[in-house]
Amino acid sequence: MQDYLAGQMPDFKDIEYVRPSVEELTEYVKEVRLKLMTCKDPEQASDIILEYEKKQSAFDTAYALCNILHDVDTSNDFYSDELEFFDEAFATVSELSAAVLTSLLNCPCADQLKEKYGEMIFKKAVNQKETISKEIIDDLTTESSLENDYSQIQSEAEIEFKGETLNLSMLNPYLESTDRKVRREAHIALDKYYQDKKETFDKIYDDLVKVRTTAARKLGYNNFTELGYKRMERYDYTPEMVKSFRDDILKYIVPITEQIRNLQKDRLDLENLRYWDLPTLFKNGNPVPNVPGEGYERVAGNFFSEIFGTVPSFFDVLSEHGFTDLLARKNKSTGGYCMYLEDYAIPFIFMNGNGTADDVATIVHEGGHAYAAIKSAEVSPFVECLSPTLETCEIHSTAMEFLSYPYMNMFYGDKASQYCELHMTQALLFMPYGCMVDEFQHIVYDNPELTPEQRHEAWKELEKKYQPFNDYGDKMPFHEMGGAWMKKDHIFTTPFYYIDYCLAHICALQLWDESRKDMKSALSKYNLLCEAGGTDTFLNLITKAGLESPFDTGVIKKLAYSICSFLEL
Ligand code: ZN
Repeated sequence: MQDYLAGQMPDFKDIEYVRPSVEELTEYVKEVRLKLMTCKDPEQASDIILEYEKKQSAFDTAYALCNILHDVDTSNDFYSDELEFFDEAFATVSELSAAVLTSLLNCPCADQLKEKYGEMIFKKAVNQKETISKEIIDDLTTESSLENDYSQIQSEAEIEFKGETLNLSMLNPYLESTDRKVRREAHIALDKYYQDKKETFDKIYDDLVKVRTTAARKLGYNNFTELGYKRMERYDYTPEMVKSFRDDILKYIVPITEQIRNLQKDRLDLENLRYWDLPTLFKNGNPVPNVPGEGYERVAGNFFSEIFGTVPSFFDVLSEHGFTDLLARKNKSTGGYCMYLEDYAIPFIFMNGNGTADDVATIVHEGGHAYAAIKSAEVSPFVECLSPTLETCEIHSTAMEFLSYPYMNMFYGDKASQYCELHMTQALLFMPYGCMVDEFQHIVYDNPELTPEQRHEAWKELEKKYQPFNDYGDKMPFHEMGGAWMKKDHIFTTPFYYIDYCLAHICALQLWDESRKDMKSALSKYNLLCEAGGTDTFLNLITKAGLESPFDTGVIKKLAYSICSFLEL
C-alpha cells in the first residue's frame, strides 16, 4: 500500500476475479508437504513454505474479492454461484493449509524455523491441527452453506413499511425516528418480518448447532464450545475467565445502563419506556451527521489526515481508487466490514450508510481496521500472522471510534458533543448485550439437545438479567417470546465471535481514558498495537502496547467511574 501511494495503486474495478483451482492447490500441497518433511536445510525450508504462503494468499484474495463483488450486488448470480464454489472449496483448502502447517511442525528444521520466524506461526499450526481434519470436511461444507442461507435470506429481506418496500438497512432510520408512532410501527414491522421467518431461522440454527456439535465430537471434543474456543484461537483465555468477565460487566455496567434508561425516560418525557423507545436517546432525535452521504468519503479522508497527520490519508487513497462502498442501496448485502485483499495489501471498506448516527461510527470503525491492516502489511511473511485474533482486531476499530471524539465536529458541527455522549452511552449499553449474546451461545453449545423453543426461553431469561428494562408491550410477539437473538448474524455465521467486541471495548476504553489526558501517548500505544499485527496472542499484544488485561479485576470498575464522570451520571 505504501508503494501504491506513490502512484501504482490499482483501481478496485480493474482487479480481476479468477476462480482458484482447488485441484492445482491440492497437487501443489502434496509436493510442499513431501519437501518439508524431508528438508534438512532451514534456508530451503523457508523458501518452500514462503512459496506456499503466496499460493495461500492468492486463494484468500480470490475468496475475499468474490465476497465483496457478491455483497455490492447480490442480484448478480455469477458471484452467488462462485460463493457456492467457495462454500465447498473453503473447507478443503483449510484442511490443506492445516496439513502444510502440520508438516511445518514436523519438519526436521522446525527448531531453526521457530528461531527465525517466532513462535506464533507454530502455535497456529498446532491450533489448525486441532480444529480441522479430513473427516469433518463435509460438516464444514454443510455449516458454511447453512450460514449462507441465513445471510442470503436477510439480504433479500423485503419489509413493507409506509407504502415502501425496504430492506433491513433501509428500515433502520425509522427504528430510531423522533416520531414515536413511526418508530413503534417500524419495530412492529420488523417483529412481523422475523415472526414470518421464525420457523425457517429456527430450522437453520438447529441444523447449525447439530452439525457443529457433530464436527466437534468427531475431533474428540465434548461439545462445540471447546472447538469454538479453538476456532477463535483463544490461546490465552478460557470460558471460566470469560464468565468472570461477564460477571464484572453485570456487576459494574448493568446498573449504570439502568440509570441511563431512567434518565432517558425522563428526557423523552414518557410514562413507560418501551422497547421501540430504546434507540432514541434524545428528545429531538439522535444527532445525525450534517454531511450528506455523498460527502462521507471526503470528510472521512480529512478526519484520518487530521488524526494521523498525513495528507492524503490512507482513506483518501482507498476511496480514490474505489476501495470503499459506503452507502446503502437495494441488492446490497447488509452490514459493514473491512475485507483485506492480501495479494494487493489493500483493504476494502464495505458498509450501508443510511444517514443515521451509526454511519460515522461505522466509517471510523472500519477505517480503524483498514489502518491496522495497512500498518501490519509487512509484519510477517506468513499470511496467517498478518492480523491478530478477532478481539484484538476489534480494538483497532473500536479504539479509533473513541479516539475520534475530539474531531467529530467534522461530521457533526456543533452537535459533536451530543454525538460523543450518544456514542459512549451506546458503548455502555452494548457491553451487557454483547455478554448476553456470548452467554447465550455457551448455553446453546453446552446443551446441544435444547429445542428451538428452549433456546428462545433461555434468551428471554438472559434479557431479564442483562437488559432488565426491556418492555416489548403487546405488539411484538416475536421479541416477547425471546426471539431477538435471531437478528444477530454473528450467532448464525460466526459462533462465539461476540465477546470479542466486549473485550475490545474494555481495551479501547483504556485508550480513550488515556487520550483525555494525553492524546499523543494514546495514539502511540494504538500504533504499537496496529504495527504488531498478528505476531503474538491477545494478552501478550495488549501488554506490549501498555494496556491492562480486561480480565484483571478492577479494570472494568475503574473505567465505569471514568465513563460516569464523562456522561455526568
Ligand atoms: Zn470490527
